[in-house]
Amino acid sequence: MDQVLQFVIEGRPLPRRAVAVTFDDGFADNYECALPILMHYGVPATFYIMVSAVESGDLPWYCRLNFALRTTSRPEWIDPAQHQTYKLSNGQEREVAFHRGCEIGARKVGCSQQEFVRSVEDSLDVEPCTSHLMMTWEQVRGIKKAGHTIGAHTLSHPNLAHISCEEAHAEIEGCKQKLEKAIGDTVDHFSYPHPALNPQWSPDTFQITRKVGFKSAVLTKCGPIRRGDEPLRLKRIYAANDLHQWTWNLDCTFVGRYI
Ligand SMILES: [Zn+2]
Repeated sequence: MDQVLQFVIEGRPLPRRAVAVTFDDGFADNYECALPILMHYGVPATFYIMVSAVESGDLPWYCRLNFALRTTSRPEWIDPAQHQTYKLSNGQEREVAFHRGCEIGARKVGCSQQEFVRSVEDSLDVEPCTSHLMMTWEQVRGIKKAGHTIGAHTLSHPNLAHISCEEAHAEIEGCKQKLEKAIGDTVDHFSYPHPALNPQWSPDTFQITRKVGFKSAVLTKCGPIRRGDEPLRLKRIYAANDLHQWTWNLDCTFVGRYI
């Protein structure tokens, strides 16, 4: 991401067929599966860490929600905000219920977010998944030590554009400070969570990321990066599982890099 910044801000050329590989959230498979492959091929990557998931070892709230809705033996779920009933035996309706739950959770941070997820788990009679699926701090430090970049992905993974300015400030500044303390280095790069709802950033969140000192911020919005783009609102392109799409991505991600 440091090289991406040099390309975007200074127009410095990138190597031919360059990609910037990024991972969000801090799942343990980033360390266990992706890291050995990246090291084997000499590919540097950026890992954006959701701090509370690493601190607690718990799954992110939206994964707990998904787990509860998929594993419950209860036939239905009632949305606590709009009191709408979803039949969970119907796969499509269960998916809609999950998206509805995400819309509610995306507006919450910290304790109130935890309370919401716990209330869903209780209402569906599901114990939270206890598998260790998130990275430990030791693994985060291991990634850094292996030469990769650690970025920040908030404390509790809300949609920052749909919470208060104070909450957004605490999430953005808090994750930077905690990560810097944990890895003993500055954290310059940020990734906007996008659990649900649009948009995922606002003029306020843009100002906050700048004020707390992030140099770049990436979105889930799909698109190429061009010279002169705003570094605190960079688009990304999802990794494709189809070879032709993947080749197209490689050719088009950094538009204008040869000029
Ligand atoms: Zn995320």
